[in-house]
Amino acid sequence: MRITGADVVVTSPGRNFVTLEITTDDGLTGYGDATLNGRELAVASYLSDHVSPLLIGRDAHRIEDTWQYLYRGAYWRRGPVTMAAIAAVDVALWDLKAQVAGLPLYQLLGGASRSGIRAYGHASGRDLPELLDSIRERQEQGFRSIRVQSGVPGLETIYGISAAPEPAGGPEHGRHPQPSEEIWDTQAYLRHLPTVFEEVRNEFGPELPLLHDVHHRLTPIQAAKLGKALEPYDLFWLEDCTPAENQDGLRLVRQHTTTPLAIGEVFNSAVDYQTLIREQLIDYVRSAVTHAGGITAMRKLFDLAAQYQIKSGIHGPTDISPVGMAAGLHLDLAIHNFGIQEFMPHSAETYEVFRHSYTFSDGYLHPGETPGLGVTLDRAAAARFEYRPAYLPVNRLRDGTIHDW
Ligand SMILES: [Mg+2]
Repeated sequence: MRITGADVVVTSPGRNFVTLEITTDDGLTGYGDATLNGRELAVASYLSDHVSPLLIGRDAHRIEDTWQYLYRGAYWRRGPVTMAAIAAVDVALWDLKAQVAGLPLYQLLGGASRSGIRAYGHASGRDLPELLDSIRERQEQGFRSIRVQSGVPGLETIYGISAAPEPAGGPEHGRHPQPSEEIWDTQAYLRHLPTVFEEVRNEFGPELPLLHDVHHRLTPIQAAKLGKALEPYDLFWLEDCTPAENQDGLRLVRQHTTTPLAIGEVFNSAVDYQTLIREQLIDYVRSAVTHAGGITAMRKLFDLAAQYQIKSGIHGPTDISPVGMAAGLHLDLAIHNFGIQEFMPHSAETYEVFRHSYTFSDGYLHPGETPGLGVTLDRAAAARFEYRPAYLPVNRLRDGTIHDW
């Protein structure tokens, strides 16, 4: 099976996606997600200018060899752009191999280790009544585990909390031609958040799994304090409590709290986790297949984590395309050390461009039984949605200092 084409498709059905479409001499088409939110065209160029020409004529079955060829052959290692590009090639080749086998991809990864994939949804509110309504709404949609994000008195806008009714495709952020700016106050947040979880537990009882995302905004000692303060509310996990490229900093957090920790959505290789995993400083690995080198690299990462009883918690915002989401779901179903999957349903426009076989029902996702990934890209539909630059916000302290976002 020789590769005859490797096209990069940029489309914007509600938000921007970059997709690699690999075609072969036996007429098959495989897809890989190469979306890097806010920096999309860098990956599109990396692929179309530097990678696609190298793929033409290669044996599409040689997945590991192609991964190493692109990783080691580039000389320059890791980084979000490189690893997103390699991930797209890798996932497209797995898609093709599974189609040739006539099997859903998870069967090639060892088969199902469970009947369904536990998913969590996002709830948020500017104040408590809005937050409680949002949690109820997610429960009505079938979510059985909920990420809780709350406004903080005195702060106008905060990431993950919509100022208006949520747009289709998720509340994460709007589309800004320039990054919008948010003001952040760590002390106000640290004072307020435990009171929010107190109220949520009072309302929904002890059993509902609750998650919270700190979005890299704390120092290790602040994160330690927060983890300790939240212990009575029994969180499923506290996510990205610090900017975790300071891997050593997590030792301090760990010494002070038993609140489980999830880290890694901005990481793009297993190297980023070396200390965190070996020293058991985290409980969940957050990388997405799209951003961390594809299925080939993620399997190795999860196998390393499994030795330390660390589980998966694959990143699943709406800037992961349905192609990237499906790749994660096949892995979720197959690996033993699955933890939970983040799931934000895409907009109707996105689903019009990406037809998919995965399903969500009663709290559980399943990748479906279609051979391959189970996602196809409708290029005619994709062509209707032209790329528009869109940026994530940036964060400043009250005195104007740029802060972690
Ligand atoms: Mg997050």
